[in-house]
Amino acid sequence: MAWNGIPAINQMDIAEQRIFMRLDLNAPISEEGQVTDLTRLEAAVPTINYALARSCRVVLASHLGRPKGQIKKEYSLEPVASHLAEMLDHEIMLTDYPIGDTATQLTRQMRTGDIVLLENLRFDPGEKSNDTAFARQLGSFAEIYINDAFGTAHREHASMAGILNHMQGPFGVGFLVERELTALQRLVDEPARPFIAILGGAKVSDKITLVRQLLRKCQTILIGGAMAYTFLAAQGVEVGESLLEKEQIEVAEQILQLAHHNEVNIQLPTDHVVSDSPDNSETRLSGPGVPQGMMGFDIGPRTCETFTKHIMNAGKIFWNGPMGFFERKAFSEGTRAVAEALTETQAYTIVGGGDSAAAIRQMGFHDKVDHVCTGGGAALTFLEGKPLPGLAALQVASARYSASQL
Ligand code: AMP
Repeated sequence: MAWNGIPAINQMDIAEQRIFMRLDLNAPISEEGQVTDLTRLEAAVPTINYALARSCRVVLASHLGRPKGQIKKEYSLEPVASHLAEMLDHEIMLTDYPIGDTATQLTRQMRTGDIVLLENLRFDPGEKSNDTAFARQLGSFAEIYINDAFGTAHREHASMAGILNHMQGPFGVGFLVERELTALQRLVDEPARPFIAILGGAKVSDKITLVRQLLRKCQTILIGGAMAYTFLAAQGVEVGESLLEKEQIEVAEQILQLAHHNEVNIQLPTDHVVSDSPDNSETRLSGPGVPQGMMGFDIGPRTCETFTKHIMNAGKIFWNGPMGFFERKAFSEGTRAVAEALTETQAYTIVGGGDSAAAIRQMGFHDKVDHVCTGGGAALTFLEGKPLPGLAALQVASARYSASQL
């Protein structure tokens, strides 16, 4: 089984069936309506191809952005459909709305090897609210259900959860979800020590639960990015005008105390690349703090060296969040140094989605680490030890289907 009793698509009898495939085709789209990063589309291809090779009729479904339950042209899956059709070398019929007459008609008329892509699921408010009527309509489009949307696994939405109550089954996961779960589970189970977490990005508040959880599992936590300034401020270090979450300073203090109590080494930056504005690429180094009137936008070379040493000696590593304002070249060296060290270490290494995944890809190192998650939020939820609602629902549906087959 791929995961807790849920089969993977290649463990199921799917030949010549109708499949509802929930994917994560939430690719970035430019103002001109172009897909600017094909990663999520590429990740979806193997599972679709597997089904097509078995003469299935395939109904694809995904959300795109946040249209807030309304039809908004800029969130149409149209550009995604044309890119995907090109990648698969296969025609894709796009519906005008995720449910309704056109979707019903097209999915009914499908012949062997046809692909119908439902328009953005979030055009209907029922997707996010896990609405029963919406879920029932989605469920009427096929018999078999495959979830290959890891990026949405932490959401209890209609196409992830409610739909399962209205389908016959079997139910399973695609190759992407299987790979993500296997990698994350391996990180949890891997006995090699030390376990090092590298955390960055802007917001401490987003990562509090994760940090608390990691304090029970890791030996060392390296903290960079803007979130380091909240921790430095908690230690009484001058942080100048750097991005700071003042209301989180007390929480940071508690975390530092807890780390001390648990004998976890929280390593904060000891030097910084600073500037008076994010638009000013004239930078200078400062340390241990950031002088008044200046802002810290990246970890400095001394910190890079310390972080690299930890990374080289680690047994397993989880990285989430850039070390600085990496979108600007002048402030990208810290993130690059960490990414580069990750390609050289012997440790089992997972990069946890979001900006760190984008950064490692941008730097061309993504093939040189053990795994890059396609879903940051889902990966964090998994490591926080919380159930992923989408997968929990799938587990229940799978068990129900297995029992019905006895
Ligand atoms: P998050 O969504 O919390 O992971 O934050 C990611 C964002 O934080 C990225 O866009 C980074 O450019 C930004 N970031 C990281 N470090 C800094 C910093 N020192 N100052 C300003 N922005 C930063």
